[in-house]
Amino acid sequence: MIPRSCAVLALALFAASASAEELIRVLVSAESREVLELRLEDYVAGVVAGEMPASFPPEALKAQAVAARSFALTRKIDAQAAGRAWDIGASVLAQVFSRSPGPAARAAADATAGEVLVMEMEPVEAYFHASCGGRTEGGLAALGRDLPYLAPVECNRCGRAPGVRWTLRLAPAELAKAAGLARAATSARVAARSTTGRAEKVEVQAGDRRAVLAATDLRQRLGFSRLPSLAFDVRLEKGEFVIEGRGQGHGAGLCQWGAASFAREGKTYREILLHYYQGTDVVRMY
Ligand SMILES: [Zn+2]
Repeated sequence: MIPRSCAVLALALFAASASAEELIRVLVSAESREVLELRLEDYVAGVVAGEMPASFPPEALKAQAVAARSFALTRKIDAQAAGRAWDIGASVLAQVFSRSPGPAARAAADATAGEVLVMEMEPVEAYFHASCGGRTEGGLAALGRDLPYLAPVECNRCGRAPGVRWTLRLAPAELAKAAGLARAATSARVAARSTTGRAEKVEVQAGDRRAVLAATDLRQRLGFSRLPSLAFDVRLEKGEFVIEGRGQGHGAGLCQWGAASFAREGKTYREILLHYYQGTDVVRMY
């Protein structure tokens, strides 16, 4: 991350020269080093298509478009400062994008063309996730990013999202392996929680051996899709560990299914963005 003053200056320089023809270089494949250069607005439409169902309400798609554009700009500014040959990756770690966005995604990008989410004129790292399960998570706990606009907020609108309630059953040997223990696990508990109640540390016991690991590491080792979020409890039941949780994703920033509910309630994309990213503003750069 580059110093804040540089980011502000970079944005000022960027805004002075920005146009609808603004380009972005996407690292399509880290292995082949393939870099695709395309118009920023085409990229934004591609991220909306890659990250949100086309059936979502237009205001939710527009919120996603502004979030995607803002996040991309932070990476572009970083790349310019670091002299990198590409601006942003194309995996779930950055933003997934489709090379052939449909009309709904295209319309969301067009309707918000040039609009960026900022805090004090600095574009924000507008992280987002599928469903928070009730309350979003802070940036530090979720991603190690201690950013003022990634503060936990109430959502309470994603209760009907697919997979928002989930259960993972693990054999004692598998949980032990994920915790780095040789013998089968005999007990497990969440040993520390964030302010929103999500797991921060998990303690796993195997006989007289004990391991305490970061919940984010457990999620990575088990697989992000198998352990969909850190809002969970764990218990031993009939010889297997049952992990029950809610929400899909890291939980920071915009909750996509919550945004869809807000849109159906009549909220605009600006209202949706300013709810999930507190203290920010939407500005038009070109
Ligand atoms: Zn939510």
